Amino acid sequence: MNLELTDEQELLRRTVREFAETRVAPVAEELDREARFPYELVAELAELGLMGIPIPEEFGGAGADTVSYAIAIEELTRIDSSVAITVAAHTSLGTMPIYLYGSEAQKQEWLPQLASGEGLAAFGLTEPGAGSDAGATRTSAELRDGQWLVNGSKIFITNAGTDISACVTITACTGDDEVSNIVIANGTPGYEISAPMHKLGWRASDTRELWFKDCAVPEGNLLGARGRGFQQFLEILDGGRISVAAMGVGLAQGAYDLALAYAKERQQFGKPIARFQAVQFALADMATEIEAGRQLVYRAAWLKDADRPFALAAAQAKLYTGLLSNRVVNAALQIHGGYGFMQESAISRLYRDQKILEIGEGTNEVQRMVIARLLGL
Ligand SMILES: Cc1cc2nc3c(=O)[nH]c(=O)nc-3n(C[C@H](O)[C@H](O)[C@H](O)COP(=O)(O)OP(=O)(O)OC[C@H]3O[C@@H](n4cnc5c(N)ncnc54)[C@H](O)[C@@H]3O)c2cc1C
Repeated sequence: MNLELTDEQELLRRTVREFAETRVAPVAEELDREARFPYELVAELAELGLMGIPIPEEFGGAGADTVSYAIAIEELTRIDSSVAITVAAHTSLGTMPIYLYGSEAQKQEWLPQLASGEGLAAFGLTEPGAGSDAGATRTSAELRDGQWLVNGSKIFITNAGTDISACVTITACTGDDEVSNIVIANGTPGYEISAPMHKLGWRASDTRELWFKDCAVPEGNLLGARGRGFQQFLEILDGGRISVAAMGVGLAQGAYDLALAYAKERQQFGKPIARFQAVQFALADMATEIEAGRQLVYRAAWLKDADRPFALAAAQAKLYTGLLSNRVVNAALQIHGGYGFMQESAISRLYRDQKILEIGEGTNEVQRMVIARLLGL
């Protein structure tokens, strides 16, 4: 057993940490306040090769493993969740379906622009009436004269409506009890995108409602075999859970780091509050639980890299780190006292950004359902 990260993984951590601390941290509060999408940062991430970390080099990606990808997402989230989810949704949800299920022609068409970060990709699964029950998709695609005629709507879709959004892969009913995945390019007539949705957290990330009204898409935009959409999106969500779990660890680590620094600096009763045992115990619990969560995430990523079954480990990591980040950010804000409640404090942004980690890519309850099923219940 070897718990050591490789030199490449350590180098990636240092690179992303430096980028997050020097480029993201100074603007994170402003981007959040103004709910402004971080175009400049995405361009810089693209230049660093971070918009296609697990995509092979032949398609313009970095060709790195899932552990490296999880480390990068963790480090970005430590500083800012909006930037992290932009990368994570683009990579795990947007680009991955095309890489995993696309034909050679589809890969050549889409992957180079996506993996290089020139264009952003989205994954449209959730509908107003189909959230946790994702199989209840109503959006339909009917094959007519060599084209899919798509009708329906999607909601809460990340990265769908930015100026650099290239495409969305959606699930659609292509027949009775038949779901397929179809890639729809931005700008296709009949594909309409709402204004950005107003959110409690992840405010600088792009979240939209989508409508398809007799939207005609080439027949060749179907991903993989017709009728495989349900299985495909379950696999995509398994992988995506590793990145959301990495966000849970990163957010908790960021909250802990802020609380530790504040506790050493804030004086009450004539000494730093870090000298009070109640505060020390809170920090000790945080540090311990964060390490446990990190190991769950790395293990899930390691299993995936080893081509071993990883769905159970990914759901466990996602559930645990969702709950962990909730506990940690709450305790970290408590250590900040009233200053932590002020909008301009970094911890208050992390506090708002945390909750979605227990909802997106499957709620806590859905993770428990997945875990129970994989335990044979
Ligand atoms: C900011 C943001 C970004 C997102 N990005 C994307 C994206 O890019 N692509 C995409 O497709 N989706 C995206 N989503 C959607 C997200 O995945 C869903 O919100 C999530 O899966 C939950 O679905 P829902 O909101 O419809 O809640 P519901 O399914 O309506 O759940 C409501 C509550 O009921 C509980 N519940 C439901 N069924 C059960 C059950 N059987 N047993 C016990 N409890 C149950 C849930 O756990 C939850 O607590 C995003 C959402 C947000 C908020």
